Amino acid sequence: MATLDPESRRALAERVRYCHELGIYDFYRRETTSVALEAVSASLPSTQSELREEMSARKSAAVPVIAEENILEIMASKPEYGVGDPVAALKLIREDLGDCTRCKLHKQGRKQIVFGVGNPRAELMFVGEGPGADEDAQGEPFVGRAGQLLNNMIKAMGLRREDVYIANVVKCRPPGNRTPEPDECETCSPFLMRQIAVVKPKAIVALGATAAKNLLAINAPMSELRGRWYDFKPAGSDPSWPGARLAVTYHPAFLLRDPRQKGEAWKDLQMVMKYLGIEPPKKAAE
Ligand code: SF4
Repeated sequence: MATLDPESRRALAERVRYCHELGIYDFYRRETTSVALEAVSASLPSTQSELREEMSARKSAAVPVIAEENILEIMASKPEYGVGDPVAALKLIREDLGDCTRCKLHKQGRKQIVFGVGNPRAELMFVGEGPGADEDAQGEPFVGRAGQLLNNMIKAMGLRREDVYIANVVKCRPPGNRTPEPDECETCSPFLMRQIAVVKPKAIVALGATAAKNLLAINAPMSELRGRWYDFKPAGSDPSWPGARLAVTYHPAFLLRDPRQKGEAWKDLQMVMKYLGIEPPKKAAE
């Protein structure tokens, strides 16, 4: 990593402080070359050969990288930093978010901020794109039709909704349920990263391409994003936490539009279940 001269270092620190005031704490840099994401499949037992095939070599994906060492110190001043209780830490993040007006979604008809829901110590986290009308009305992610399908997916895995943690890349409803724009995702996602860093899940499932692209900072079609694991650890998170493994599957709203893809989504979830050591309930895949 290149060393900055004192003036640039000062300018960078100023910039970081400015971002900090905006509530932005995590900084990512897209790698210019393929990064060392080694295939997790190599570490799987041989009985999982079928799974290994699915998780063929991960190629170029960007991983979160801290731009300068001294940024770590500045980021350590996040309000939740050092708070051991995840319930309290998530509360601090929510308080820090406040009545957020950091991106234009705050003035485009949102009723309320949809922060996240579930077990603050969850082993499994689902990340979607953004709230829809039902979520906006109720203040909870995935409560509409797509939410019902997600609940069924979670149940099929042998889990309950309250066992997992669920959040979105953006916390305010984009008008007309449009895809959140890059600037909105960029402004809001640091809060998601902080939620992930607090929950410290073993596995994350990105629901749909928007979530996957924002979490992984890669631009690829779903056909390339699915069927493999990615190492994921937000910058500035607890050094003793090894990070999560991240898998990508279809967004439940897409599955409602194209139910033929449910079988493919089930394969993705089975991959996650194997990693988490969850026994597939009988008849779950139907
Ligand atoms: S989407 Fe996120 S950054 Fe934008 S106003 Fe809502 S909470 Fe703030």
